[in-house]
Amino acid sequence: MALIQFTDRGLFCPQGGFYIDPWRPVDRAVITHAHSDHARWGNKNYLCHHHTLPILQLRLGPNNFQSVDWNEPVFMNGVKVSLHPAGHIIGSSQVRVEYQGEVWVVSGDYKCENDGISEQFEVVPCNTFITESTFGLPIYTWKPQQEIYADMQQWITQLNSEGKTAVLTAYSLGKAQRILQPISETGIPIFLHGAVYNVHRTLLDAGWKLPAAKRVELDAPKESFKKSVVIVPGSVIGSPWMKRFSPYAVGSCSGWMQVRGNVRRRNVDAGFPLSDHADWNGLLQTIKATGADKVFVTHGFQSAFSRYLNEIGIEAGEVKTEYADEQFENETI
Ligand SMILES: [Zn+2]
Ligand SMILES: [Zn+2]
Repeated sequence: MALIQFTDRGLFCPQGGFYIDPWRPVDRAVITHAHSDHARWGNKNYLCHHHTLPILQLRLGPNNFQSVDWNEPVFMNGVKVSLHPAGHIIGSSQVRVEYQGEVWVVSGDYKCENDGISEQFEVVPCNTFITESTFGLPIYTWKPQQEIYADMQQWITQLNSEGKTAVLTAYSLGKAQRILQPISETGIPIFLHGAVYNVHRTLLDAGWKLPAAKRVELDAPKESFKKSVVIVPGSVIGSPWMKRFSPYAVGSCSGWMQVRGNVRRRNVDAGFPLSDHADWNGLLQTIKATGADKVFVTHGFQSAFSRYLNEIGIEAGEVKTEYADEQFENETI
């Protein structure tokens, strides 16, 4: 019996009686991170990292939550389960599952570069590795984040000198917190859309130190936003809500901005290819470093990527899941 099985409710460990990031309600769910496609409503019991807990509570309300530290084992029917940093967003974890000497690791979403806020990704040796593949094509090779931050800062200060507001689209959970620090270094005031602010407030209340940023109050005079930076979810671009920031330009912070045509297609003025996922090289290096002799590939370019792995001699299979492919703006927090 495989230690983890792929079922219509999600990744299931039959021996331990738990699911990992299930997409239908189950009794016991181990949650890799608080993005809505991985952490869904309706489970009876949730296990997650301490840093994920406040965001899960914000999203799902009161529930049976248990949280643990990195590498703090929980035993379920003899199966040892532990969480290890995935480097994707605050609290994001890989799930290590061990039974009778066999180890499987479920990556969840991950990135290899240390963003200073999500905890440095850790390679966890295993027999079988289940990896995401959001950016599993060779065209997705990230520049070092410092270069992208510098471009973004320059764009913001340039707009500021022209008397314009810089509007940046970013995921409310993850990207928005990550770009706060580099933006704050410009010294220009920062405003947050309500969805971004709710996450910000929750993290501040949980003890995180984040750069100062104010909520966009609906009744605030238009002048108060003049020459500021505003972080918004992509879904508000083009809506009447945006009028208060005029004159402004829109920049998008997303790995998809690596493809030039997407800047035009998304109707934004500038693209900053900053991703919270591993790029092509990051995926390959990680897979090799785990030492796994079997790899399963989930959401993203799973078919092309698993085919490539087989070609280079790594036994790999493609797995269908119901995690979002992280297209641009289909986010709720
Ligand atoms: Zn995610
Ligand atoms: Zn995902």
